[in-house]
Amino acid sequence: MADKPSRRVYVFDTTLRDGEQSPGASMNLTEKLEVARALERLGVDIIEAGFPITSPDDFEAVRAISREVRRPTVCGLARCVPKDIDRAAEAVRDARHPRIHVFLATSKIHREFKLHKARQEILRLAVEAVERAKAAADDVEFSPEDAARTEPEFLSRVVEAVIDAGATTVNIPDTVGWASPDGFRWLIEHLFESVPNIRKTVIAIHCHDDLGMAVANTLAAVQAGARQVEVTINGIGERAGNAALEEVVMALNTRPDAFGGCWTNIRTPLLHTTSRLVERVTGMVVARNKAVVGENAFAHESGVHADGVLKERTTYEIMDPKSVGLARSRLVLGKHSGRHQFKQHLKEMGFRLSDAQVTRLFFGPFKELADRKKEVFDEDIVALVESEASAGPETWRLCRLTVATATGGMPTATVELENLATGECRRDAASGDGPVDAIFKALERMTGVALTLTEYHIRAVTQGTEAQGEARLEVRYRDRTVSTRGVSTDVLEASARAYLSAINRILVRRNAVSAARQKKRRRRQPQRGKVTG
Ligand SMILES: [Zn+2]
Repeated sequence: MADKPSRRVYVFDTTLRDGEQSPGASMNLTEKLEVARALERLGVDIIEAGFPITSPDDFEAVRAISREVRRPTVCGLARCVPKDIDRAAEAVRDARHPRIHVFLATSKIHREFKLHKARQEILRLAVEAVERAKAAADDVEFSPEDAARTEPEFLSRVVEAVIDAGATTVNIPDTVGWASPDGFRWLIEHLFESVPNIRKTVIAIHCHDDLGMAVANTLAAVQAGARQVEVTINGIGERAGNAALEEVVMALNTRPDAFGGCWTNIRTPLLHTTSRLVERVTGMVVARNKAVVGENAFAHESGVHADGVLKERTTYEIMDPKSVGLARSRLVLGKHSGRHQFKQHLKEMGFRLSDAQVTRLFFGPFKELADRKKEVFDEDIVALVESEASAGPETWRLCRLTVATATGGMPTATVELENLATGECRRDAASGDGPVDAIFKALERMTGVALTLTEYHIRAVTQGTEAQGEARLEVRYRDRTVSTRGVSTDVLEASARAYLSAINRILVRRNAVSAARQKKRRRRQPQRGKVTG
């Protein structure tokens, strides 16, 4: 094409919206804020923080993120319905750079079977929605849902109309993962040729991975002139997921020859830490062989390959592991490191913590770890900071844990807990099928919260038998799923911490719900008085 747009590609991250929609990946507010801060550090241009109309929690998360991050644009999603748009506008109002993202299905299948609306009606609704959003924010994005299966000439008409109505970004989503790279490249080129006002807007793409082509389709669209990529960390998202941020960004970085020299503002050395954070908070484990961020992505097993890499890295490595933040474990701190050194190091790693948080981490978990383990690596520090961040407010704190096991005998766990609200200490013991079962039973009995364990994983944070163990679990309580983790040099203690953290979360929620009910009851009572009186 003669005049393609500039080569700068905007990264629109939807980990907190589309990603969070993937089954089992829900995050609480603390976790969403942590991810949003990590995305800001990473250099993401737009953060889609949620879908505010869907629940009070989603609304709160979008509002909190709008107030927290400063550099990126914060975006809230809305259907083309006035109450959705108003709610999204309210949620992003405090953002330094707010964006409202409205969407409406345009494909024949969706028009006929889902919306029962004719083309003309769709056009009118889309234009009205963009105008309504525009009254609340300058920055408005429109998505014709299921664009990849929409008749191209109708799609062109929709795109032209919403640009006239003021849409500053128009996203072309492959909602169902149906597109192929050639077809998608053709579709974007067709839009550039057939929509007269297209250069007034940024064309975005949003691809799903149902056929494993999300990244390829995204890159094909970039070749055709799309300049915003809608992606998620680790490729999480509805069904088979979205195009993975790390893969799209590293493809552009590694192959400027193939993708016209297009570039993003992503600080790639933070890719690995961000991927790990999202893996932890969502509980969606990254496959070992996953491109760019998988554990094996830079591992060379075959002797020939390993030998080649030692002689010259580029023989078998097309990317430098350092460029994605995968430096080999480096000894960083130890028992004799001071608080200042610790603080400095956290800063270099990109963590933004308050002085009080640094002090608490340093004199608590860090000192404890450095005493148990001679060498503390970057991975250990990431695990400490993240488990601190995910712990949330505590009701019960673990004071002491003793586990007795004998081959052939029944394991017993003795647990001491302190209630931080009342200062009360409790001590109890339970036996179980295994030591972990015994610990969980004791914790349930002592706190009165019974959970159903649905997933349980243990892994070493670094190498060696001295390494810290991380227990990650998912539990169900009534209709709610909670994922937590605990870290310790003792895997049983890590398991106890993770389980207790789940109990603490349930308690926070339960207390909040009963406080809200009481408030409601108090409000209702005087009214009843008026009626009878
Ligand atoms: Zn999607």
